[in-house]
Amino acid sequence: MDDYWGVCGGRIIVRRDVAFWLWLIWGVSFLAATQNQESEAHMGDKIVKTDKEWRDILTPRQYDILREKGTERAFSGHYIEYHEDGTYVCAGCGNELFRSDTKYDSKSGWPSFWKPLADDRIKTETDRSFFVVRTEIVCARCGGHLGHVFEDGPEPTGLRYCVNSLSLDFVKNADEEKSSIRKE
Ligand SMILES: [Zn+2]
Repeated sequence: MDDYWGVCGGRIIVRRDVAFWLWLIWGVSFLAATQNQESEAHMGDKIVKTDKEWRDILTPRQYDILREKGTERAFSGHYIEYHEDGTYVCAGCGNELFRSDTKYDSKSGWPSFWKPLADDRIKTETDRSFFVVRTEIVCARCGGHLGHVFEDGPEPTGLRYCVNSLSLDFVKNADEEKSSIRKE
């Protein structure tokens, strides 16, 4: 019986070397699965953080909106009446989301854009909260909630990307700055 590893007096027996190989295969596939999970968390340049890490880098209001899908009060946001030339980036991860030349005054009370900087910067999800179906927009890199997109925007897209100011940071266009200095 030395060469066998069995159960209940040899009724179900597995040779010791076979058992070893089965154990080894199980071990390797378990490790591979763990590795896969890790590489998924870092796939591309996606940003995955724990709740605590988000709380450490965001203000409580930003956390409420970006991570808990909150909405800032209409007409309260910093970027509604904001007309600088540059790029609006995600306040959570810096992902470049909208150019200032696609921003327009929708009179909705939130900063509005008719087009994202590139289609892959933003992901959409169906939002069924408050008994209405809306299309939520989130940052494609960190998953932060930005706002919603509606089909009542201006041409050429006919879309209105309605975004919370607190979900955004702004990066001034350095080239524009230089060229305006040159003009003076
Ligand atoms: Zn982001």
